[in-house]
Amino acid sequence: RDLSYGFIGLGRMGLPMALNLQKKLPGVDADSKVNVFDMNKAALEQIAKDKDPKGAQLEVLGSAVDVASKSDVIFTMLPEPVHVRGVYTDLVNNLGDKTSKIFVDCSTIDTQTSIECGKLVTDKDASAAFVDAPVSGGVVGAEKGTLTFMVGCNKDKQQVYKQVEELLKLMGGRIVNCGTQGQGLAAKLANNYLLAVTNVATAEAFHLAEKLGCDLKLFSDIVNSSSGRSWSSEVNNPVPGVNPATPSSRDYVGGFGINLMRKDLGLAIDVAKQSGSSMLVADKTYEVYQNIEKGDNYQGKDMSVIYKFLQDQDQ
Ligand code: NAD
Repeated sequence: RDLSYGFIGLGRMGLPMALNLQKKLPGVDADSKVNVFDMNKAALEQIAKDKDPKGAQLEVLGSAVDVASKSDVIFTMLPEPVHVRGVYTDLVNNLGDKTSKIFVDCSTIDTQTSIECGKLVTDKDASAAFVDAPVSGGVVGAEKGTLTFMVGCNKDKQQVYKQVEELLKLMGGRIVNCGTQGQGLAAKLANNYLLAVTNVATAEAFHLAEKLGCDLKLFSDIVNSSSGRSWSSEVNNPVPGVNPATPSSRDYVGGFGINLMRKDLGLAIDVAKQSGSSMLVADKTYEVYQNIEKGDNYQGKDMSVIYKFLQDQDQ
């Protein structure tokens, strides 16, 4: 029989991912559906009203348990560890013993919570599988189906990995096998730690160069062909006008929210503590995000707004 699919968490990332999954599912007829649930009633009503949102059909069900009981492969895309733990506890308490279901959690959470959720699932039902598959690529990547998935899957479930990889290809451009369960998140959080620090340092360096009288377009060209180059200096340059495609060039609107960067940095600090890794600038960097995020002029803006904060400070 054909497998059925479910998606729990239809926010900025989850909804476009679920739509891509449904639209591109191989070998399904035009009427096939993906079972979905979100605890936000308004979001669900909108999907139910819009019978054919962007060409795909999503079957809205009444709870996460309903979605999981009607689906063989279930994706979750939830905000924080507490939500992921809550949903998986609920599922494990309410699903049967021998389901052979595959759960794929794409949320960005700490590795420990992810491994605990994986254990919850497989302790209850050894025939089931739990895979972590956090993403990078943001809302645009979710909409275009070009996300990078970093996947952690235990060795005894490699058949599951193959199956999940084929499905993730419908929502992403690059699927990376990172190793055992939890390793997808390990890679994601270590990467985002680097981004969190580089973002602050890049804003500081450009602010310093400005104060020293450098032409910032010229300075950007130098950095981007020198050892200081990074995604933050090149693709997401913090100085308005240096790169017209960046959020900084449209008053820091869109992009990767400063609050989301603070959240991911907090998770990286959690896993650093869990694994006994020394982090020299993590706490200070966290403080920087926490303070700037509170300011009216910076709230909800792209994380590169730290450059504007430094300018405002030194005026
Ligand atoms: P979001 O807040 O837009 O969406 C999360 C959705 O989950 C919401 O619609 C919420 O109602 C729903 N939800 C919460 N608890 C639930 C529950 N118990 N049952 C059912 N639904 C529930 O968040 P998002 O931007 O879609 O991000 C989701 C995850 O992806 C986060 O972990 C985030 O860090 C990660 N992520 C986000 C981005 C981005 O650019 N937004 C990029 C990469 C990774």
